[in-house]
Amino acid sequence: MTTAFLWDERCFWHSGGNYAFTAPVGGLVQPLAAGGLPESPETKRRLKNLMDVTGLIAEVDAHTAPPADEEALLRVHPAEYLRRFRKLSDAGGGELGLRTPFGRGGYEIAALSAGLAVEALDCVLTGRARNAYALSRPPGHHCLPDWPNGFCLLSNIAIAVEAALANGAAERIAVVDWDVHHGNGTEAVFYERPEVLTISMHQERNYPTNTGDFADRGRGAGEGFNMNVPLPAGSGHRTYLNVWDRLVRPALDRFRPDAIVIACGFDAAAIDPLGRMLATVDTFRQLTRRAMEAADDLCGGRLVLVHEGGYSELYVPFCGHAVIAELAGSAIDAPDPLAAQLAERQPGPRFEAMMDATLDEMAAALSPGR
Ligand SMILES: [Zn+2]
Repeated sequence: MTTAFLWDERCFWHSGGNYAFTAPVGGLVQPLAAGGLPESPETKRRLKNLMDVTGLIAEVDAHTAPPADEEALLRVHPAEYLRRFRKLSDAGGGELGLRTPFGRGGYEIAALSAGLAVEALDCVLTGRARNAYALSRPPGHHCLPDWPNGFCLLSNIAIAVEAALANGAAERIAVVDWDVHHGNGTEAVFYERPEVLTISMHQERNYPTNTGDFADRGRGAGEGFNMNVPLPAGSGHRTYLNVWDRLVRPALDRFRPDAIVIACGFDAAAIDPLGRMLATVDTFRQLTRRAMEAADDLCGGRLVLVHEGGYSELYVPFCGHAVIAELAGSAIDAPDPLAAQLAERQPGPRFEAMMDATLDEMAAALSPGR
C-alpha cells in the first residue's frame, strides 16, 4: 500500500490579481518586482521540484484527478455563488470576496484543486492508498460557502468530506487544521454537524482576526464537535507537539473518526511571512508522525493531508518533503537547511511555562464531564 500524492501543474497556473503582498496596487502602492500576493505558485511548485530532485516522487503514487463536479461543489457552495464565480472567471477574472483574486479560468482551477482533495480522501477510503497528500492550490480552509477569502475560492476539504459522507464511504470524519491561520471556512460548514469534528490550532487573531476563539465549540447538534486552540505569537516546536498530545489526540480518541483529514499549512514555520510562530521542519514531521499514530489506532491508518497555506519559498518545500517522506515511510531525507538556526530561536523557559499553564487550563475545560 502506497502514499497517494495528488498534484496537477494547472493548479500552479492559478493567478492572483494586482497586489503588492497583501495590499492592492494603486495610489502610492508600487507593484513588487517579483510576484504579488504571498500565495504564489512557487512554494508548491518548489515542493514538487524538491521531491523530483531527491527521488521521493518515485516512492509515492503521484497522479492528478478530475475536477470536483458540480454535484460535489453544490454540497458545500450555493448555486448562486458558483454561478457568479464561473461567470467572472469566464469574463477574465476578478474578485468576489476578500483578497481572493483569480484570473480567467480560475473557476476550473479551483474545481481541480478541490478535486485533488476529493480524490485523496477517496483513495484512502477505498483502500487504493494507505494515506494521501493533496497538493491543492488554491487553498480552501478560509472559504465560506458563499464568500471567498484569504486566498481560498472553494472549501476543498469540506467538499471532499461531504463527498465521502454522501457516498457512504465514511460516517464520521475528523478535520485537524494546523495551518497558522484559523480554519474558519471548514468550521463554518460543519459548525452544527456532529458527524464532522473540526479542530483548528492557530496563531490567535492572525487571520481572520475575529474568529477562532476557544469558546467556539459548535452549535445545536454540532455542540462539542468544534475545537479551537488559539496560540500566542512565538509558539514553537514544543507547544505544537503539546497541543497535539494534550488537546488534539484526546479529542480524536473521544470522537473515534472513520478517517482523519489534516488541513496542512506550513505557515506556522519560523520564517513564514504571514505567521509569527516558531515551528520547524521537524515540528511538521513529528506532527505527521502523531497524526499517523492516531489514524493507526483509531481508523485503520486512514489519513489524508490537504495543502493549505505556507508562504516561504525557501522553507515550505523542506516542510512538505519531510511530511510526505514520513507518510510514505521513506528513508529519503531533505535535511532542514535552517535546523541549527531555528533550534537556537525556540521560546525560552518562561514562555514554555506560561504555555504549559494555558494548555492545562484548556485541557481541563475540555475534559469530559465539564
Ligand atoms: Zn494560513
